[in-house]
Amino acid sequence: MRRFTLAALAATLLAWAQAPANISPDAYLAHVKYLASPELKGRATGSPELETAARYIASQFQSFGIKPVPGSAYQQAFTTTVGARMGPNNRMEGNIPFVPFSFSSSGTVSAPVVFVGYGITANEYHYDDYAGVDVKDKIVLLVRHEPQEADEKSAFQGKVLTQHSTFAIKAVNAKMHGARAVILVNDAYPHHTPQEDRLEPFGRATGPTDAGVLFAQVKESTAETWFKAEGRDLHEVLDGIDKDLKPRSFPLTKLTVNMTIDIQHDIKTVHNVAAYLPGKTSEYVIIGAHYDHLGLGDEHSLAPSQIGTVHPGADDNASGTAGVIELARWFSTQPQQQRGILFITFAGEELGLLGSNYYTGHPLLPLENAVAMLNMDMIGRIRGGKVYVNGTGTGSTLDKLVASVKPPDSFKIDLSEATGYGGSDHMSFTVKQVSVLFFFSGLHGDYHKPSDTWDKIDAPSAAKLLGYVAEIATRLANDSERPKFQRVAEPKAPSGSSSSSSGYGPNFGSIPDFDEPPKGVRFADVRDGTPAAKAGLKAGDILIEFDGRDIGNLYDFTYALQSHKSGDEVLVKVLRGSQTIEAKVLLTERR
Ligand SMILES: [Zn+2]
Ligand SMILES: [Zn+2]
Repeated sequence: MRRFTLAALAATLLAWAQAPANISPDAYLAHVKYLASPELKGRATGSPELETAARYIASQFQSFGIKPVPGSAYQQAFTTTVGARMGPNNRMEGNIPFVPFSFSSSGTVSAPVVFVGYGITANEYHYDDYAGVDVKDKIVLLVRHEPQEADEKSAFQGKVLTQHSTFAIKAVNAKMHGARAVILVNDAYPHHTPQEDRLEPFGRATGPTDAGVLFAQVKESTAETWFKAEGRDLHEVLDGIDKDLKPRSFPLTKLTVNMTIDIQHDIKTVHNVAAYLPGKTSEYVIIGAHYDHLGLGDEHSLAPSQIGTVHPGADDNASGTAGVIELARWFSTQPQQQRGILFITFAGEELGLLGSNYYTGHPLLPLENAVAMLNMDMIGRIRGGKVYVNGTGTGSTLDKLVASVKPPDSFKIDLSEATGYGGSDHMSFTVKQVSVLFFFSGLHGDYHKPSDTWDKIDAPSAAKLLGYVAEIATRLANDSERPKFQRVAEPKAPSGSSSSSSGYGPNFGSIPDFDEPPKGVRFADVRDGTPAAKAGLKAGDILIEFDGRDIGNLYDFTYALQSHKSGDEVLVKVLRGSQTIEAKVLLTERR
């Protein structure tokens, strides 16, 4: 008879007590296939198809006999601003063809026009289109993209467009210089093959909800006519800028433009979907995923030429949603756990973590009783067995716990990102001091494109991963010691590191809340050890002024940060409750 060592015996018992969850790849794939079907049209937040998906998820929970959180329904409603459309009152005097941008403010302006080249102020490239011209209360006319764009060796970043070329930054730059409106023309000449002189379709550009300045596009032929009246030639001026990188800005003395822009925003009610398996105590584990995607594309599409076709979002994130559903099914067949399990799927993730952010602001169960939140976003495309598990640094026991759960054979678990920050719903929990783990199978070429289809999902591998997640969740639900939340401090910048060229400016240290307040930037969190933390700024503060400049939204803040460097000390103003607080922040090197 073989003699067992105590450890081997313990391991045997443990294996017996925790039979691995056997998730059916077929059942899993059926959910993915349905959620990513043409019928659900890409599950855009605010669309009727997202509501269809919500009902489907709720009906699955119900079919497993899992009830809503006591006192609630399966669906948690919240409202959000989705998209923008043109109202009936858009006009430019003289019947000039134009199109407003979706992030434009609404209103009427009648003002003289100043040509400001590309509308760029780039201290790092010693280039400023606004030098020497006064645009206060005027309309600025500017050209798309950036100088020397077609030149491999341009003074900017060669053929790679910098942040300065974006609509959003041009809008902020114009606003910061006091302009009331921006009129943009394409740079077909001199940088792009001259196609027809066209206006961009409405709603294709990313930006803030309201940039705080009117923003519209006219045709190049319109701009050329205006130039001719001044005795100038647009092409000549642009060639000149490309040649010596000297701005050629000037007021158009013969022109006053009168324009009205009317943008309307839709407010829609959308839903998170949650179900609860009670445990023997009031503590619980959260297993979540977002179930929305990009619908027919919108400005977040990475296949701009295919906007208007269904972006099915099979991996992003039918794969994680199907995971929540199948884990709910499996746990519903198990004996009652010590702690409860909350299964939740979120809307509005693609628009900026809206659903999870709403949830953590309006939790159905006390957040302090949540021992951990497990998030799955894109788990359907495991390649070479590689799986990322992020966030182990956020809970005192997570490192040990994850190390002690044996991953499926052939899996390589990557734990290198321990912070719990990063672009998916778990971050909404990290900033509320809930320990998190994030499961992710990596980015791929079909990300945010119509080609993210169900047939590319590796269901057998995803099912194996769910078995692994189930075991981690079981441990979190039953281990006597629960993880205590830990903040992962900002890693120290290596000494002697050279100036960053990331283009995002120096380090500040706040994590913005993507659900914009009416004005300013709300901090979802302020990371320990950062300049903002050292200055006493806190989560919940709303930044309204930075170095004497008004901050209306995240773009303004990004812009303000970019125009400073590490070592600068800036005075900022934040709203904290009804108080306005001033703080001096010493900016440091971004790591
Ligand atoms: Zn996602
Ligand atoms: Zn996405």
